[in-house]
Amino acid sequence: MALFNAESCDRGFAGRHIGIDADGRAKMLAQIGFADLESLVDAAVPRGIRTTTGLRLPAPVTEAEAAEELAALAGRNVVSVPMIGLGYHPTITPAVIRRNVLEDPAWYTAYTPYQPEVSQGRLEALLNFQTMVGDLTGLPMSNASLLDECTAVAEAVMVMRRGSASKSSKVLVDTDTLPQTFDVLRTRATAVGVQVVEIDPDQPLPTDDFFGLVLSYPGASGAVRDHEQLIRAAHDRGALVTVAADLLALTILRPPGEFGADIAVGSTQRFGVPMFYGGPHAGFIAVGDGLQRHLPGRLVGVSRDSDGRPAYRLALQTREQHIRRDKATSNICTAQVLLAVVASMYAVYHGPDGLRRIAERVHAHATAIASGLRATGIPVVHGAYFDTLLVRVPGRADEVLAAANAKGLRLRRVDADQVGVSCSEVTTSAHVELVLEAFGSRAVADGSEQESQDRVPSSLHRDSPFLTHPVFHAHRSETEMLRYLRRLSARDFALDRGMIPLGSCTMKLNATTEMEPISLPGFANMHPFAPAEDASGYAELVRQLEAWLAEVTGYAAVSIQPNAGSQGELAGLLAIRGWHRDRGEDQRDICLIPSSAHGTNAASAVLAGMRVVVVGSHDDGTIDLADLEEKCVEHTDNLAAIMVTYPSTHGVYEESITRLCDLVHAHGGQVYVDGANLNALLGIAKPGEFGGDVSHLNLHKTFCIPHGGGGPGVGPVAVAEHLVPYLPTHPLHPEAARRASDGSISAAPYGSAGILPIPWAYIRMMGGPGLTECTQVAVLSANYVAQRLAPHFPILFTGAGGLVAHECIVDIRPVTAKTGVTVEDVAKRLIDYGFHAPTMSFPVAGTLMIEPTESESLAELDRFCDAMIAIGAEIEQVAAGTWSVQDSPLRQAPHTLADVVGSWGRSYPREVGVFPAGMDADKYWPPVGRIENAHGDRNLVCSCPPPEAFVAGPNGTPS
Ligand SMILES: *Cc1c(COP(=O)(O)O)cnc(C)c1O
Repeated sequence: MALFNAESCDRGFAGRHIGIDADGRAKMLAQIGFADLESLVDAAVPRGIRTTTGLRLPAPVTEAEAAEELAALAGRNVVSVPMIGLGYHPTITPAVIRRNVLEDPAWYTAYTPYQPEVSQGRLEALLNFQTMVGDLTGLPMSNASLLDECTAVAEAVMVMRRGSASKSSKVLVDTDTLPQTFDVLRTRATAVGVQVVEIDPDQPLPTDDFFGLVLSYPGASGAVRDHEQLIRAAHDRGALVTVAADLLALTILRPPGEFGADIAVGSTQRFGVPMFYGGPHAGFIAVGDGLQRHLPGRLVGVSRDSDGRPAYRLALQTREQHIRRDKATSNICTAQVLLAVVASMYAVYHGPDGLRRIAERVHAHATAIASGLRATGIPVVHGAYFDTLLVRVPGRADEVLAAANAKGLRLRRVDADQVGVSCSEVTTSAHVELVLEAFGSRAVADGSEQESQDRVPSSLHRDSPFLTHPVFHAHRSETEMLRYLRRLSARDFALDRGMIPLGSCTMKLNATTEMEPISLPGFANMHPFAPAEDASGYAELVRQLEAWLAEVTGYAAVSIQPNAGSQGELAGLLAIRGWHRDRGEDQRDICLIPSSAHGTNAASAVLAGMRVVVVGSHDDGTIDLADLEEKCVEHTDNLAAIMVTYPSTHGVYEESITRLCDLVHAHGGQVYVDGANLNALLGIAKPGEFGGDVSHLNLHKTFCIPHGGGGPGVGPVAVAEHLVPYLPTHPLHPEAARRASDGSISAAPYGSAGILPIPWAYIRMMGGPGLTECTQVAVLSANYVAQRLAPHFPILFTGAGGLVAHECIVDIRPVTAKTGVTVEDVAKRLIDYGFHAPTMSFPVAGTLMIEPTESESLAELDRFCDAMIAIGAEIEQVAAGTWSVQDSPLRQAPHTLADVVGSWGRSYPREVGVFPAGMDADKYWPPVGRIENAHGDRNLVCSCPPPEAFVAGPNGTPS
């Protein structure tokens, strides 16, 4: 036997990323009856869509080489002391949080907590996040994160429009709002017919009607205003009010909930999350009583498990876009869970007193700069501020900026006469002196007198307590903090424990070499509005990545700005709308969507201002072309687009895709190919070649960005030549040519720039042949699983030759009809066998959709198939009457450690319940039993319950 595996050494990283070795492939191919991978793909994929161009990508490099290249790119970025502000601030990520959350696969490889029994750790962390946001804003109901501050404002405007009694289509926005917020809001508002009107917050409200008002607190200029009068006036007019606030400021400023705001939004970036050149960061939204049912995104709530113990789970899920579809008012799906966890842990680490001390220090440094400037006759525009000063230097702004640059500081150029200076957690007295020198102010900050001055008006002092829950007090030593983080992550099932076979989500390897570079200071510590010359490494990284993604999709150009698939969809649909508009066909607003589509598609179409028309599917899951033709003819004058997922949502390569594209084009429509699941296409077919005009990709699926427990993501939009002018722009883009035209989709020019090294490293290490092989093996694995399970459960849809694409749907409905065992019972029982459940009841209710990906080994695939087959045998016992459904290990699943002791009294042996796959010292134990969803929605609690709740459940069960 060889001492090492020569094959995986020779094949470089591809041999590490792909989990199936040569022996495994041979066995699997034999099982499904193919000689090699090529003939399998030839049989599964319609000839008409196959690419003839291959993947023209650079030859792959090794892990060490990729790491070196990325370090060199990071090294080209200039790490300065940014005092630019505008919603992004340097912050210190406590090392214990950086290493044990941000860099820990137990946190970053987890999936969205749709299976709450295996997600209690991150659900607790998110509940801490919601409690933190609720306490600091003074508004009781917060969700578990949004994508960034700008989209949070846009979401809040949609909530106000739904929640307000006014029929007006106008929203008023404080002129002192972040420029990028205006831009994103205009993009989103214009699409749905909402008019954005700028107002001066120091003047009375205009007299015409409006449904909502957005105020900034502090303003982009740094000014801290008392908004109470304005809010009262808006309420008197029947409007709702959103306040965009800075969480750190709220530790010393009166919270928006106490002066009448209905909604508070913002970013949690400065709570320990690196600036990452713009993202990812968790945006937040909190609302007052009465608006919680309009909250977008995911909301964590408290319920109870089968033993009456408190347990967390996602609340009010019927609000979410995948349920509401074309009734949705938000399309958000993937959010920013990992970053929300980091921000919440920053609050756990510092506690309320620590956060307040940081805020006071930041404020004192700002005060020191202001008094130093004023002492030498340099005016500071606003008398009330928190951390940011607007300084008047007539005609001298460029000179001051240049002087600051030379000292390693970056200030904000407001215009030729004004400069902005923002202090942050990293600001020191030495920085204060350098700032004063840059302004040519000879007065040197001399400490205590100025520093004790408080520039917050007394009416705006915060005197209400916050973060009073014990969790924000109990983990101050590093030992306690480390153990808390470990305790929570140990409750969760992530990819570091086993396979997560989630259809449509592509839970593949997130390799360490891909992950490591995100922490390099040259990537992590860059301000998104740093001067372009500071960020040439990022510019190169983005240019290469966008070009590679254009190559693999067959499109002319790509923008990586959208920070989730949902945002890529919106950007793509807005590009289509812009194109029709400029051709004088603004009336084209019908978006055809197959009935089987992902819910986000319909929601995005609505947010793009389109009318959704549903196209039927056949029983076999394929699109009904006759119905499509009928709808095309009916709407021929108004047809804007079709959104179609390929391979279909049913996991099949549909033959009819080329005919579909021709039909829609013939009627003047554009073809949007949802490319979230590119894992079945890379190297085999390119949407831009087989008829698509635009696609989005999910880099958090196919390109190895980890799911982070429900975010971050990157959802680039890829377009054909004629749509290139409609790609997202940004008012502060480093390239002047990309500043103005159709508007921005995300808060930062390059969206979640900080995690782009992950897909860059993946493509760089795999190369064209490696990526193609991934697709082939993903298809092999899905077909292998389908074949092994077929004798036990019906496989719902197959394409040519009885083959599936990269995922397969197992139909549990016949079992349910015969025995009463539900798809949920099977999903929860899989936990006892040591698996995360597949996707449940999507796209078809009562089914499980399984996507094994190319990264799992044959041993793991077999372990999963064996578990499913064993569950099939358990179902037989129910069918045979040995066990009732109610008293079966299926309905009682998942079993917890508490089930190992105490009285038993069930009709199946205890061993069958707790060790169905045999006694295993490494078994994963869910911390709670099956969770009651309805109970939690009836008794909505969305902040941390008191510790007493956990002492003993109603049944006296200690937890
Ligand atoms: C995951 C997915 C989406 C949504 O992407 P997010 O990043 O979660 O917004 C859209 N369409 C399909 C087919 C998907 O699988």
